[in-house]
Amino acid sequence: MKTNLMGRSSTTDSKRNLERQHLFADARRVVVITGAGISAAAGLATFRGPTGLASTDDMTERLSGRHLEADPEDVRAFVTGMADDAARCEPTAAHFALAEWQRSLRAKGGDLTLVTMNIDGLHERAGAETLELHGSAHRLRCEQCAAMHAGPWTSDPCRSCGGQVRADVVLYGERVMVEPEWKVKRALPDADLFLAIGTSVETGTISSWARFCRRDYDVPTVLFSLDPSPAAAEQFDVVIDGQADEIVEYIATSR
Ligand SMILES: [Zn+2]
Repeated sequence: MKTNLMGRSSTTDSKRNLERQHLFADARRVVVITGAGISAAAGLATFRGPTGLASTDDMTERLSGRHLEADPEDVRAFVTGMADDAARCEPTAAHFALAEWQRSLRAKGGDLTLVTMNIDGLHERAGAETLELHGSAHRLRCEQCAAMHAGPWTSDPCRSCGGQVRADVVLYGERVMVEPEWKVKRALPDADLFLAIGTSVETGTISSWARFCRRDYDVPTVLFSLDPSPAAAEQFDVVIDGQADEIVEYIATSR
């Protein structure tokens, strides 16, 4: 199914809304990717994107893998600050609605693969099983033995081997997490809806998933984002310009 509802002047708004709601209501196997926009309502500054925390060259440099080698203390302070900010926030209505949608689809024999670029842990706290493409600011990884430990990121060595630990997050210049990416690629061919929420679709990863959906799998693609760029919008069949929390109304139609 391919429905490009952007700019179709003959379609009334109400009919357009109905078509959009059908996409959600009929979906049984959904892949959802979320970005910083979904956590903005929780009070968190965005990690990536044109209005985000990491929007300047300076921030991009401070959160880079290269800087971790040069000045690990500075990166640790930055990531620890992000983890502290996230810990002070609560999941939003959109986080809870996605968790409930995942439970409800699974109860009906369907599935919702939820993958996020956020490292704030809010999807997990809302009760969703989540694939973290950029890792988590609340988890540590030993660079020597690869053991995982719960945060916070202090200067303490690995409890297993004494090696150096770091936050299990993807810094600029580093590759996204392999296992989440692999699981999404496995879920896409069988999906009946690919939904991106609160992301500027700047990363090549999401662009390539949207391309697979449209070109290879015939999966409808929906971008739900505040003020999406034309470059981002043209990669999706349906574009909904809205606050992330407004997704709750669309998910409600799937019950
Ligand atoms: Zn270790």
